[in-house]
Amino acid sequence: MRGPSTGGRDDAGVLDMDTERLTVLDTDPIVGSALAALRDERTVPADFRAQAHRLGALLATRAVADLPASSGSVRTPLADAPTRVPAVPVVAVPVLRAGLGLLPGVHQVLPEAQVGMIGLERDHVSLAARRYYFKVPPLTGAWVLVLEPMLATGGSASDAVQALDAEGAARIVVLSVVATEQGVARVLDADPRVRVVTAAVDPGLDERGYIVPGLGDFGDRLFGTPH
Ligand code: URA
Repeated sequence: MRGPSTGGRDDAGVLDMDTERLTVLDTDPIVGSALAALRDERTVPADFRAQAHRLGALLATRAVADLPASSGSVRTPLADAPTRVPAVPVVAVPVLRAGLGLLPGVHQVLPEAQVGMIGLERDHVSLAARRYYFKVPPLTGAWVLVLEPMLATGGSASDAVQALDAEGAARIVVLSVVATEQGVARVLDADPRVRVVTAAVDPGLDERGYIVPGLGDFGDRLFGTPH
């Protein structure tokens, strides 16, 4: 069985699914069942939220699999046992508002993760991102998980990555539910140290900037607002 695919861009700018900067969890059936529920147009907001939380945990687990760790030991009732625990802080940064849907799952895996927030608005004509809110804890040396469920053009996520990089983050991993090749490429171009972990890469965008087949408007479906 094929493992999760990984990729970046080759010298010709073509998305190359064999480098370490992109992880697509498209062969994992647990990720697949959460994603199927999110994609299903019949899924009501309460269930959409539950599945988004579940997927947040699965994406975060993968994103921090190679987090620097320190060794120690703990005394069990029987003997000493070796331990490996995170050696660097992790900060979760949801991109408002859709990114909030992944945060509870990230906290299940990383209960001590601090949280920053980035507010970005997309101009529906130019599709460009405008930053209207930015509040993050000190990031020097931290691993930062950017929660951006729909990596469509990649405009919002690449803006977030640049802003977080300027704050001294040691590593930035963008967690996405559905991405496009264009969105992934734009984010990977924003910073050579950034990585992307996503549940799926879909074929493209429609004229309104929605991913097709995608799952619709993530924020609207999460919060039950009209779409
Ligand atoms: N944002 C969404 O919520 N859905 C898309 O398909 C693209 C951007």
